[in-house]
Amino acid sequence: MNNKAVVLYSGGLDSLLAVHIAVNLGLEISALFIKTPFYKKDIKTLKQNLDKLGVELNIAEIDSEYLNIIKKPKYGYGKNLNPCLDCRILMFEKAKELMEKTGASFIITGEVLSQRPFSQRNKANILLIEKKSQLENLVLRPLSAKLLPITLPEKTGIVDRNKLYAISGRSRKPQLALAKLFNIENFETPAGGCLLTEPYFANRLKNLLKLDLLEYYKFAHIGRHFVIDDNLLVVARQKNEYDIIASYKDKFDFFETPDQPGTCAVFLKKSTKEQKKLASQIVLRYSKKAKSVLCVSEEGHQIFENLENIDEEKLNSLKVGE
Ligand code: SF4
Repeated sequence: MNNKAVVLYSGGLDSLLAVHIAVNLGLEISALFIKTPFYKKDIKTLKQNLDKLGVELNIAEIDSEYLNIIKKPKYGYGKNLNPCLDCRILMFEKAKELMEKTGASFIITGEVLSQRPFSQRNKANILLIEKKSQLENLVLRPLSAKLLPITLPEKTGIVDRNKLYAISGRSRKPQLALAKLFNIENFETPAGGCLLTEPYFANRLKNLLKLDLLEYYKFAHIGRHFVIDDNLLVVARQKNEYDIIASYKDKFDFFETPDQPGTCAVFLKKSTKEQKKLASQIVLRYSKKAKSVLCVSEEGHQIFENLENIDEEKLNSLKVGE
C-alpha cells in the first residue's frame, strides 16, 4: 500500500473538502469526475478549484453503461428515476479502474454519513456499495471516517485517523466551517446536479423508457412531448428547440408549417397515417397563423390542410411531463 489515492470528485463542497483533507494529509492524489448523461456540471468550474491545489482532474464519461442501469437498476430507483445505489457502484468501479491504472492504493470520497436519501443513507448502503465494487476497506471517507470502520490506509498508518472527521446528517454547518478553515470560497450549493432526481425531467425520461426510446434521452431536455399510441411526438417550443428538432429532419418523420414558419416536430418512431394527421393538428395548435403542415417522411412529402382544431382535452391527455 502506498500514499497514492483517487478522489471521486463531483465538484460539490463535500468532495472538494475531501480533496483538501487529502492534500493536507500529504497524500498524492488525482481527482476523478464521472460525467453521466444526466449530470449538469460545468467542467471549467470543477477544474478551477483543483488547479489551485495542483490536483489533476480526470474525467470518465459513462453513457451506454449508465443507460443500462437506468433501464434495469439492480437496487431500484430513488424517489424519481435515480438509481443511486447502482450509480454509485458504477462510479466506484470507474474509480477502481483509475486506481489500478495509476498505481494508487485506495479511493477517497466526500460522502457524509446519513446525508442523502438512498445512496448514502446509512452505513449499510455505504458498505454495500464498497463491497459490490470490490473496494472493501479501500474507501476512505475523511468527513465521516471516525463514524465508519477503520480502512486499510488508516490501519497501515498511511492516513492518520486522528486527522479525520466524524460528520453525519443533513446539516451543512460542519462542512461550511471546514470550508472556512480551508479558505474555500467558491463552491457549488448542494442543490443537486443530477437531473434524474428532478421530477419534471425524470417524468419525461420515464416516458421515453416506457416507450423503449431511452436511446433518445437527449429529447427529454427539449420540446413538448405527446404520446400518440406507442409513439412520441416532440414539438419545438422556441427557436433553439426548433433548430435542434429540425436537425433530425432526415432521421425521423418531420413536421413543419411552410406557409407561416412557427413550430416544428418529429416522431421518434415511424408513424402511421393517422398519427401523422394528429401530429399535424398538434403542430397547427402551436403555430398561431399557419394553415397547413408539411410532413417529410420515408413516404415522401405530404401536405395536411383543412384540419379540424384539436380538442384541448384530447391534447392535454396526450401531453407528458408538464
Ligand atoms: S443522485 Fe444521480 S448522480 Fe447521484 S448517486 Fe443518485 S443517480 Fe447517481
